[in-house]
This record gives sequence, C-alpha cells and structure tokens, in this order.
Amino acid sequence: TEASVQKDVPSTDEKEFKGHDMLAPFTAGWQSTDVNPLVVAKSEGSYVYDINGKKYLDSLAGLWCTALGGNEPRLVEAATKQLNTLPFYHSFWNRTTKPSLDLASELLEMFTAKKMAKAFFTNSGSEANDTQVKMVWYYNNALGRPNKKKFIARSKSYHGSTLIAASLSGLPALHQKFDLPAPFILHTDCPHYWRFHQQGESEEEFSTRLANNLEKLILKEGPDTIAAFIAEPVMGAGGVIPPPATYFDKIQAVLKKYDILFIADEVICAFGRIGTMFGCDKYGIKPDLVSIAKALSSAYMPIGAVLVSPEISDVIHSQSNKLGSFSHGFTYSGHPVACAVALEALKIYKERNIVEQVNKLAPKFQEGLKAFSGSPIVGEIRGTGLILGTEFTDNKSPNDPFPAEWGVGAYFGAQCEKRGMLVRVAGDNIMMSPPFIITPQEIDKLIEIYGEALKATE
Ligand code: PLP
Repeated sequence: TEASVQKDVPSTDEKEFKGHDMLAPFTAGWQSTDVNPLVVAKSEGSYVYDINGKKYLDSLAGLWCTALGGNEPRLVEAATKQLNTLPFYHSFWNRTTKPSLDLASELLEMFTAKKMAKAFFTNSGSEANDTQVKMVWYYNNALGRPNKKKFIARSKSYHGSTLIAASLSGLPALHQKFDLPAPFILHTDCPHYWRFHQQGESEEEFSTRLANNLEKLILKEGPDTIAAFIAEPVMGAGGVIPPPATYFDKIQAVLKKYDILFIADEVICAFGRIGTMFGCDKYGIKPDLVSIAKALSSAYMPIGAVLVSPEISDVIHSQSNKLGSFSHGFTYSGHPVACAVALEALKIYKERNIVEQVNKLAPKFQEGLKAFSGSPIVGEIRGTGLILGTEFTDNKSPNDPFPAEWGVGAYFGAQCEKRGMLVRVAGDNIMMSPPFIITPQEIDKLIEIYGEALKATE
C-alpha cells in the first residue's frame, strides 16, 4: 500500500535539494542545481514509487526492459541462491560457470527463426552490438576479405551508446559533438511509411523503393566493402516504428545478393514484446547474428548476448584455434548471477506462455490508445504487441512539426507524470512498452491517464 511505501523508503526534503553528484546519462543540464530528479525508490508489479512515496504506472517498463514487472520473487530467489553459491567466476580461457553454459543452451533452443550455434555474453545491448562489429571483422579477416568491413544501419535506429553502438545508431543526438559516426558506418533510409512515403505510394511500393535505395548505396560503396546490415525488427527509441509490409523480405533479398550479413538487434523485441518470442519470427527475418539484452533478465541483472550462426561460429573457431584465442570479452561476460536470473526469467516466459499473454493484452492496449488518433495534435499513433509510439504534429501531418520551443511532448509527459504515469518522451514522440505482467485493469488506467493528459495538452 502507499502507506507501507511511505514507511519503507527514506524521505527527502525537496527544498534541501542542491543538485547531485552524478553525471546522469542522456540528461540535459546535469550540472544544474535547480533540476530535481525523480528519484525512484521501489517497484511493485507495473508500478514504481518515488522517494516520497508517490506511485506511478511505469508505462515504459523501466527502459523497455522490466518485462516481469517490479517484484517477481522467483528472480530475486534465483539471484539470492546464486549469490550464496557462487557470486562470481569468469568465462575466459576455457573456464566458466554452469549458469552461463545453461543459459547459452537455453537461448539457442529458444531462438528458432534460424539455427544459431553459439551465444556470447555481454553486460548490455551496446556491448552486444559492439561485439557484433568485432566478430564480423574477425570473420571477414579470417575469410581473407579484409576490405569487407563497412556496416549499414538505418536512420532513426537506436543500437546503444558505446562508440560503435552510437555510430550504428541513426539518431543525430548520439553523433553530434562526439565526432561520430565512425567512418565505416553508413546509414540508409528509416522505414517509416507515414513520414517518408511519397504521394500515392503503397506500403509495398515504399518498401521496394527503400530496398532499391539500399542496393544503390551498396553499389556506390562497392559490395566487397560492405560486411553487414543491422536492424531492429521494430524500431524502438527512434519512435516505435514497425516495418512497412514486405520491407524485411525485400531488404533480405538485396543483402543476400551481395553476401552481406544481417544482424538483428532484438534488444527490445526479444521475448514477446511484439507478440512473437523474437522479432525475427514476426517478420520472417533469417539473421546471421542477433543481439539481445533487456528482457533477457527482465532487467533484474545487467546482461546481454550475441547469438552467432553456425557459419560464422565455425570460421571464428578455426581462426581462433590458429591465433590462440578469440581475444574479446568482458570480466562479467556470462556473470553467473545475471545468467541465473536470466535462466529463471526464460523459464517464467515459457511457463506463463508470455507470448500468448502479450497477444491477449495487445488488442486492448493498441486499440484503446489508437482510439485517440483523431486528436488534433496527434500525427500518428503506431505500434504492435505491447509497444506503442505517439507522434505529435500540427495539422496531423508529418511535415508540420510543432515548434520545438512549445515542448508539446514534454508537456504531455509532465501531464502523465502529474497523474501518476511515466512515459518516455523524445521531442514530440511519446513511447510506451509496459511490463508483460500488466493487468487489463492497469491497461484501462494507462489509457485513462493518456486520454486525460492528451486533453490537457490539446
Ligand atoms: N539496441 C536497442 C534496440 C536498444 O533499444 C538499446 C537500448 O535501449 C540498445 C541496443 C542498447 O542497450 P544498452 O542500453 O543495454 O546498452
């Protein structure tokens, strides 16, 4: 109850606030002493509580990640048991731990869009995508193709914020003032039909045009220089953008023609988010490499992974036998506590048939929110499964953004917060991806708050 939370969490006097000592990620004005952060202190199911005991419906599941909500006791138990047995051992030099071996096997069994041969563990999605680039380079070097090193990502994609992952990302804010992207990383079109289609162009025709543009880019650069293409099945942080009809079929045909690898960034989509166990299942994607993180452990422990196809893993194995090792990895690759928690999360997804659960909730969530599409400030509401984005524009047109200084998205976000709901705001894009354990009643509440916030913003 709220009373018990009030008792559990230490309270702070907001008037005493003098700024803080943390250089906060993705935060404007971190030096400022007058911006009071929302300090989250406790979570329970689909809700989080701030340090003063105020309760918020967490419509983004943390950062698209706490799939099993805020207090799943089985995950806590799995962590505690592992901490009491073996809190740490590494996985370098042919030493490892049982939870990491078991988790690798479990992931290979679960991923069925294409047979994968190995799982490589990281601590995050960014590290997974960095690892992808190094693996692909190592692979092409082993094959005697030292020039096949460039990557193609898409504009508006988000692949993380390490040097390489930020370079792969197609968001200007991640490049500006960081001297990025790295020169071997190229960007092709964002597959956002509403925003970028030409007059009279069907979704299929739009997809054909984008595949043609990708082919033109490959030919311009030289196919022998392009190593891989990376894509999120549904774009997340770029504004929740599901692919237009036939898009991935056409893109994959082009990549195949020029012997270019497909890396699926499943960091948000994996484990049921879009109504299939993996995003690749939904769109017929047959990737060579896959990145996962977030819901892998329901975010209770930091962990990510790269899944590697047999073709690539065979080459890496024989090359590393020659060289002595595949010299890449992290102290915490396959951390036993993170792996034990992830194993339990995967067990829960299976036992509770999480994909079916998402598909049962999705129509209420999607239809309930898309019913607001007629609002004069809404350009588009889009999504699938339990992920949804709202884009505010004037005149319902993708070409008429509201002036940035009006802060329409930020105002909407503040209205939600005031009413007890946290959403992700990026300019005039609002994003939501609630935990899979959200109840139908909580979805009703989410829709109610969204509707009230929208009215207040109009
Ligand atoms: N890839 C995608 C699709 C993501 O959404 C994210 C994070 O939001 C990442 C990669 C980066 O993951 P991390 O923040 O764990 O490094």
